[in-house]
Amino acid sequence: PLVLGIETSCDETGIGIVRGTTLLANVIASSMDEHARYGGVVPEVAARAHLEEMSPAITAALDEAGIRLDEIDAVAVTSGPGLAGALMVGVGAAKALAIALDKPIYAVNHLVGHVGADVLATGQDGASEPLQYPTIALLVSGGHTSLLLVRDLTGDVELLGETIDDAAGEAFDKVARVLGLPYPGGPHIDRLAAQGNPKAIRFPRGLTLPKDMAKHRYDFSFSGLKTAVARWVEKAQDAGEEVPVADVAASFREAVVDVLLGKAIAACADHGVPRLLLGGGVVANARVRELAAERCAAAGIELRIPPLSLCTDNGAMIAALGAQLIMAGNEPSSLDFGADSTLPVTDIQVH
Ligand code: ATP
Ligand code: MG
Ligand code: FE
Repeated sequence: PLVLGIETSCDETGIGIVRGTTLLANVIASSMDEHARYGGVVPEVAARAHLEEMSPAITAALDEAGIRLDEIDAVAVTSGPGLAGALMVGVGAAKALAIALDKPIYAVNHLVGHVGADVLATGQDGASEPLQYPTIALLVSGGHTSLLLVRDLTGDVELLGETIDDAAGEAFDKVARVLGLPYPGGPHIDRLAAQGNPKAIRFPRGLTLPKDMAKHRYDFSFSGLKTAVARWVEKAQDAGEEVPVADVAASFREAVVDVLLGKAIAACADHGVPRLLLGGGVVANARVRELAAERCAAAGIELRIPPLSLCTDNGAMIAALGAQLIMAGNEPSSLDFGADSTLPVTDIQVH
């Protein structure tokens, strides 16, 4: 099926078009520049930007795919989770399209969409075979840090764990601020870290002590780490020392990545699943990629990392999930669904 997907859960207005498992268009307009001066995504600003970008992004995607709007078979849209006002713009646009074109609509889960993106990457990044299920998925971005057990993309997704405070990307952004780096800070920390010593400072690994692991084996916590970095930097400054910024960045990055991959690999081992899919903007991190490759190779785990344009929020992954739902024989959603900012990952599609 020819599916147009709409994604507006955070700051990117994403319009994607797929035919079955083939990517035809992936247009992304981000309002990140407008949020930069606030040091974080401002929901109202994001929603307004979606409204402004929606129509041009749809036109651009149709151009890129070389199709007319009336040729599409279905519309897919992110129903949640995400920022309520931002989601509402996408949901409204998708419903309007579905009604005007008299086409079925599929309201889908954003996190499951990240997993669905992999099907479009097959053949692009060296992965010649489609991803097999079950798979473990580690989704890390500015808004989420989730570990999923995906037994069936269109029928059975389980949340193994998630962050109990800050998301991993959020931690990068907050520590960047402590170090006086611009927002979003992830890429800046990553660059600085390359010149530092990751063993210079031993920062805490959240929720990895035996007592935490009993209850939070697959959960994450990064707020204590952020505080530890801030305190370490303050102490150095109070002592009149020059802050070894590269070493701090490298040691912080190592602490985050060590925990992320430690828990993801443990999930693979515990569930006997020899596959790990990564998604979300933090996958851009060089150390995430390096350590994932190292540890997966050592554990005999197949590692899947779609190209970055399919890892960060985008409409193509939503279109891909919609197409998979159609191909699996699922009924369209009724037009009664709305934006659900806290949609659980077990709700792959909203009916
Ligand atoms: P959502 O959580 O809804 O997916 P988002 O817009 O917060 O949305 P992304 O756009 O996928 O998430 O990712 C942005 C986040 O990724 C930011 O927090 C940014 O700092 C982080 N990030 C980007 N590049 C890197 C990097 N190289 N290293 C670490 N973090 C990075
Ligand atoms: Mg973003
Ligand atoms: Fe996302």
